Formats: sequence, structure tokens, C-alpha cells
Amino acid sequence: MKCMICESWSFSHICVTCQNNLLTPRLHKRKILGNIPVYSFYPYDEIESLLLTKHTDIGYYIYTILAKRSLGTFAQTWEYGYRVASIGIDDDPKSGYSHTAVLNRALRSPAITPRYGKLRAQNHHKYAGKSVEERLMNPRGFLCSPFNEEEVILVDDIVTTGLTLSEAAEALHAQGKKVILCLTLTDAENK
Ligand SMILES: [Zn+2]
Repeated sequence: MKCMICESWSFSHICVTCQNNLLTPRLHKRKILGNIPVYSFYPYDEIESLLLTKHTDIGYYIYTILAKRSLGTFAQTWEYGYRVASIGIDDDPKSGYSHTAVLNRALRSPAITPRYGKLRAQNHHKYAGKSVEERLMNPRGFLCSPFNEEEVILVDDIVTTGLTLSEAAEALHAQGKKVILCLTLTDAENK
């Protein structure tokens, strides 16, 4: 096949050269709810065109590549005293696959157990391009399902206002869980 960035022949949708040149993570940090760190791996402008593949067939492969290079690398080097769960925001498959489940799967490691279908939004109001006020007026209304681990890493592809991650963290805290950090591919404020 051809690399979708440079169009040279490649065994993957993005060739090794482009992956090394363009997809080497540069960690960026912000916080939600006062003290929960949100780490993102890529400046928004650099992967914006790749994120647009999300709801297409090729999106599965692109998200798998992005996940492996960013969250996968993070999980291999991250150490913690005991096992924690990782949960993708609203990971039910809408277009054949769930992009947050693809990201979450890359975290599997000695310290992290990915859990699926544990956090479901009741409201799927489209947030993209909407004001903070409209987002606040339409909370996701997350429902939590039981799982064993006490502490949680939240996973999403993009953090914009941080409201979705904050609401998800509050829903988990209400169940007695503790969100220790969040991981996203990119931060829309980091251009
Ligand atoms: Zn290439």
C-alpha cells in the first residue's frame, strides 16, 4: 500500500519514516478538576488530518498506529505500585470500531488493565465547535459499570475544554474510584 502522508510504498498506512519524523510524541500537560493531570502526546495541528479519519474504515489503522506510538510507549515506561484500570470515554462502537477502545487497548501492560464498556454517555449531543455554555447545558450523563481496580486512567482522543473528562472523572469519583491521570492523543489548545 502507499503511505497516506508521503505516498511512498509502505507495509503500513503510515510509513516508518513518516512515523519517526512526524509521530514521535512530545508530551504536553494540563490539569482538570484542579489537580488531575491530562497528558497529550501531539500538538493538535500536527495530527488534525489524521484525526479526521476517525469515522472512516482507514481510521481504525491510523488510530492503531497513533495509539501504539503514544499511549503504548507511555504504558511500557510507566511504573506504579499496583495495577490500575484504564477506561476509554464512551467506547461503544459507532462506525464498526471504537476509537477510544483502540487507544485504550494500547495501554495493556504490567501496571495497567484496560477495561471496556465501563463508562457510557447517555447524551450524545455533538460537542465539536460548540461553546462552553452549550456543553455545560448538555452534560454527558455518564453511567459507570463495576470493575475491580480502585484507581483509573481516563483515555480520549482529544481534550478541548476538558468538560467531558471532568464529567467522566466526577462520575467515577461518585462510585468511589479515583482518577489519577488522563491520556489523550492531542490537546486542542496545544497548537
Ligand atoms: Zn510516509
